[in-house]
Amino acid sequence: GSAANEKIDYVFKTVLIGDSAVGKSQILSRFARNEFSVDSKATIGVEFQTRTLEIEHKSVKAQIWDTAGQERYRAVTSAYYRGAVGALLVYDITKRQSFDHVPRWLDELRGHADKNIVIMLIGNKSDLENDRAVPSEDAKEFAEKEGVFFMETSALEATNVETAFLTVLTAIFNIVN
Ligand code: GDP
Ligand code: MG
Repeated sequence: GSAANEKIDYVFKTVLIGDSAVGKSQILSRFARNEFSVDSKATIGVEFQTRTLEIEHKSVKAQIWDTAGQERYRAVTSAYYRGAVGALLVYDITKRQSFDHVPRWLDELRGHADKNIVIMLIGNKSDLENDRAVPSEDAKEFAEKEGVFFMETSALEATNVETAFLTVLTAIFNIVN
């Protein structure tokens, strides 16, 4: 559980980055509240959401930051990245451009964040297989070359969202322990 009086062993700041409309806010909503909001604007202005979970009998509070509409190139400030130990870099499998921008996001992330940050590349909207514009193989290859995790998710169908966060948080946990 996550009662107010519960002891927290770790707080792991994790940031969501990637182009606008790839599904970052819905991924966060799915992870933090197990919801997919029809009206995405509901989360605009919210800096971060938290969820406390247990990893190897320790209480870990995941503090997940959302860009809230600052996705234009270089508009995300260094304060956003400060102290982040994890990052989910999201593209939309139906929007080639959002994948083509991934190297740029990765450069920006690596320029701002701690060098030990745990990064996962996420191809979201896997439910839209018929509109796929980015082959899984291309993303997998890119992720391997860059030494980052890779997973395809659907915030809509709740596919792999939990696994993606758990993979990143567990990797962070293993670095600090
Ligand atoms: P953000 O700008 O990256 O935060 O993107 P949003 O979370 O606001 O989502 C952008 C649009 O994509 C909205 O219309 C969402 O409903 C939709 N969306 C987000 N995730 C998914 C998904 O997994 N599948 C589908 N089909 N649509 C999604
Ligand atoms: Mg958003």
